[in-house]
Amino acid sequence: MLKLFDSGLTQDIPAVLENRDKRVFVQNKLLSQYPSEIVIGAKLNTPGPIKNNSIIKNFFVNQLEVFEDIMLEEGLVFFKNTEWLDAATGPERFYVVEGNAEKVKQVTTDFEESKSYRRLFDLDVLFLNDEESVQSISRTEIGYPQRKCLICGRTAKECGRSRRHSVEELQSKVSELVEDSMLLTDKKKKVHLLVTNALRAITYEVTAWPKPGLVDPVEWGAHSDMDIFMFLDSSLSLQNYLRKCAWAGLNYQTDTDYRDIFREIREFGKIAEKDMFAATNGVNTHKGAVFSLGVMVTAVGVNIKDSNFNENIIQDAVKKMLRGLIETDYSQLNGTENKKLTAGEKQYLKYGVTGIRGEAASGYPAVFKYGLPIFLRTKGSMNQRLITTLMNLALHTEDSTLIKRAGTVDIIDWKNEQIKTFFDQGGLDTDNGRKILNDLQSEFSKKHLSLGGTADLLIVTAFLGLTKEALANGNNN
Ligand SMILES: [Zn+2]
Repeated sequence: MLKLFDSGLTQDIPAVLENRDKRVFVQNKLLSQYPSEIVIGAKLNTPGPIKNNSIIKNFFVNQLEVFEDIMLEEGLVFFKNTEWLDAATGPERFYVVEGNAEKVKQVTTDFEESKSYRRLFDLDVLFLNDEESVQSISRTEIGYPQRKCLICGRTAKECGRSRRHSVEELQSKVSELVEDSMLLTDKKKKVHLLVTNALRAITYEVTAWPKPGLVDPVEWGAHSDMDIFMFLDSSLSLQNYLRKCAWAGLNYQTDTDYRDIFREIREFGKIAEKDMFAATNGVNTHKGAVFSLGVMVTAVGVNIKDSNFNENIIQDAVKKMLRGLIETDYSQLNGTENKKLTAGEKQYLKYGVTGIRGEAASGYPAVFKYGLPIFLRTKGSMNQRLITTLMNLALHTEDSTLIKRAGTVDIIDWKNEQIKTFFDQGGLDTDNGRKILNDLQSEFSKKHLSLGGTADLLIVTAFLGLTKEALANGNNN
């Protein structure tokens, strides 16, 4: 249980009354400055002698951010008064709002009633009447019921007057409510972290250069129907999808069947594919990434819900989510009309290569064994880290897109020789290595070869690496 009232300065009645005078002074000053506007005074109803500390203040600030979003959604034009009160008697903030008092009171009351913990908020709505004196508007004047007691549901006034509940009982209820809100705020921050790093990863991938058989800012010969701008459009179209995957992971409960989470995000994925095709005018830029990145964002969400970033937990979650994927997806293939099959499915039937689905179902071994450790330990620019990781991933992947374009599985051996030469010559750090990579890119373009499957693995790897680093640095970007 949250210890909400363990720190802070004890307040007595004179201190609270003195603070009320200050509040009235600020409100009157604002209304004389902006006589035709509405003033909202925001504060908390906190039982007992402790009215402010860092947890209380965080709760106040976080919830006011939500309140500001709601005002924007309601079309209320506002600005925050800069001199807000932050005394030991409790945090307080003032807004000057354009509009009509009844509408503003409706918005503030709906906010106060929208979540159990927002009932701790007390948002006063004040304006100057025709006689130019300060007037407030009450809930009942706009047809809302009176404020209810947090504990028993009688009117708050009734319980307050009769002191029906002890301070301890009230404090314990308030602690419980604030704790609920903190859990949600924490989850929202994690969703933001996951979506931001997923978008970083997917846009970093296309930006890295030079990439044989892939679209980069300089060359896209192997993909004449695409360019980097299309990839950026496609990446940004996936924001909503990634957010949903993050929530699916963070909402994981210990008794949830992982395959149910996968079924859930697969439905999100179908919509994401439509959004992607709409953004690219029908070109398949990120279909593989929709699958792999969605799965990985969800798995990291499951992991960081209650514990620290841990590769083993993430990989385990992926495996559990995709358990049976190969069997169910491929078992029904025999007898399916050939033209209806995807490249991966055709290769499975022809060569027994399970491609990206096999990689996925076995928990992305190339990503966890090679990609991520290499991404994390490679020094130098982000471009260097990405290209080095990509070429290492390419060395350890049966890229089904490459096999499809080449029309033969023998292409894998040729690709591996090329990459080994690149690393033998010192990789991207040396002139020789860079020349080999440039030449390889030209050759891939000429032969119309693609490393599309490996690019998806780079996106997933970069997402894991960037997220791990962001968490270690304690920031949410
Ligand atoms: Zn009560």
